[in-house]
Amino acid sequence: MSDFIKTRAAFHLPRGVTYLDGNSLGPMPVAARDRVARMMAAEWSEMLIGGWNRAGWYAQPRTVGDRVARLIGAGPGEVVMGDTLSIKVFQALSAALALRPDRRVILSDSGNFPSDLYVAQGLARAMGATLRVVAPEEVEAALDDSVAVMMLTEVDYRTGRLHDMAALTARAHAAGALAIWDLAHSAGAVDVDLTGADADFAVGCTYKYLNGGPGAPAFIWTHPRHADDAQPILQGWMGHAAPFAFDPEYRPAPGIERMRVGTPPVIAMTALEAALDVWEGVSLSDLRARSIELTQAFIAGVEAECPGLVLNSPRDPARRGSQVGFCHPQGFAVMQALIAAGVVGDFRAPDVLRFGFAPLYNDLEDVNRAVSILARILRDGSWDHDDYHRKAAVT
Ligand SMILES: *Cc1c(COP(=O)(O)O)cnc(C)c1O
Repeated sequence: MSDFIKTRAAFHLPRGVTYLDGNSLGPMPVAARDRVARMMAAEWSEMLIGGWNRAGWYAQPRTVGDRVARLIGAGPGEVVMGDTLSIKVFQALSAALALRPDRRVILSDSGNFPSDLYVAQGLARAMGATLRVVAPEEVEAALDDSVAVMMLTEVDYRTGRLHDMAALTARAHAAGALAIWDLAHSAGAVDVDLTGADADFAVGCTYKYLNGGPGAPAFIWTHPRHADDAQPILQGWMGHAAPFAFDPEYRPAPGIERMRVGTPPVIAMTALEAALDVWEGVSLSDLRARSIELTQAFIAGVEAECPGLVLNSPRDPARRGSQVGFCHPQGFAVMQALIAAGVVGDFRAPDVLRFGFAPLYNDLEDVNRAVSILARILRDGSWDHDDYHRKAAVT
């Protein structure tokens, strides 16, 4: 069994705070502070440009990618880090579209995160394709022989609804389409198995359940069958076969390295390395079991003690990721009051209170505290205060 008491101790969790927003930004691994400080003191300051070779900065997108690979059911040499998730969506989608030149439809669903849809809209315009967006439950029926690429986020950021990755990928392949999976709310939250699902491309970020820190680099995976054929439109020098030949003509690097673009964020990657240390020895099936235990307990508690809230997530844990949403007509103010009382979740328009459960550091005590404080705020009406209705730039 994975030791979740030990992993909880690996994080700095502010006193008095029950943190249920690790699906937006994971907490700081205690070791990250020293790791980054050491990198600054021993590498950047002393080695200067020599750090690219001597400290392994140049290889870091690959070496860190290998560590992420284990958490998403991918093999070594199949994942590379860099850029932001939106950029990795662009790369995967452009490469997939180019692999299906006779088809021009990108199929996605309305549960996808807006940034993924925005990227697809821009790319569709540039590549003469069309984006077709259907309801999540209609994806399967919408897979016809015009679809080049099915691009889905496995876990819906708003509802926590979990797509059946293996079944939908098989359906996409049967229709002659490729499957791209966005793992933003899956990596570190559910037991992802890209190889088992036979997906074509996958992308994700590392600042949510992987706890890499704000702005931590994204990852991209290409199935080995495509790795030497995929031609991303973003052709940067770090994805060149010989970056230091400074050849004016682009030639893609073999395999996944062609998905690199420019200079990687070494400081951020160093913090991520410390975050990935916490995952050593954690079994993904234990993680999934623990996640289900936490979300089930939270749903049961809220439904028993908070009559005004309506579940906005699948009730069947097999169809749910590691987050739970509840609707309340004044959800924004209720969430602000909850945060002020030390329980941090977040709000997603129009009316969803969202709670992420991260098995590495959340436990049943967090669940119980969140339920009882939420019940109190709803009972005494303290959420309906001017202060809690004011919106900041980031909700
Ligand atoms: C969080 C998230 C993003 C954010 O993209 P960034 O480029 O990292 O800001 C994109 N897509 C999905 C599905 C997400 O959940």
